[in-house]
Amino acid sequence: MPLWTPERYFSRISHIVIGRDLIDCGFENVLLDIDNTILTRDTHEVPRDVGMWLGKARDAGIRFCLLSNNWHHGVYELAGELELPLVAKAVKPLPPAFLRAKKKLGAKRRNTVVIGDQLITDVLGAHFVGMAAYMLQPLVEQDLPHTLFLRHFERVLMGDRQPEPLSSVPQAAQQAAQQIAQQTALLPQSAPMAEAPSVAAPMCKGRQI
Ligand SMILES: [Mg+2]
Repeated sequence: MPLWTPERYFSRISHIVIGRDLIDCGFENVLLDIDNTILTRDTHEVPRDVGMWLGKARDAGIRFCLLSNNWHHGVYELAGELELPLVAKAVKPLPPAFLRAKKKLGAKRRNTVVIGDQLITDVLGAHFVGMAAYMLQPLVEQDLPHTLFLRHFERVLMGDRQPEPLSSVPQAAQQAAQQIAQQTALLPQSAPMAEAPSVAAPMCKGRQI
């Protein structure tokens, strides 16, 4: 797999299924980008779904270290509010900060995934040090000028790859359809629920767990 190809690609962090996409893939530790990954670049907020996802992941035993090229006081404040360790001024994709963050968590490369919204910094940096990378679409379009410039190259490298679909949608839709069918007596109440169609997601692709 090329260094610039993320193992997985999601619309936003809350679309990552904590059990299936982290725990079942052997990831106990996450090195987490900040800007436009969990914090909007325009309003500097953590969206509600992102905050809830972080809480659920921590409850599930996932450990996080924030890893950001940003050096402004805002990232330190955020780390304090979230009570998460932070490596700032990271100069991603260079390896030293990734290794410092890994060390802060007492993590190993094989049980650590980098999550971020930039291919050149987050994905490439993760692969430089032998870690997996989950790439996200940025939370908002607004970003720093040099980041917007790099996104042109990212679009070329990503080609027509699209974020993975929400896995819960097909099952929820099927259950709703089944309920409607039962209510309208199209199916007997005892009819077994059909297996939800599997979503074509590349589960733990290429990993030895
Ligand atoms: Mg970012």
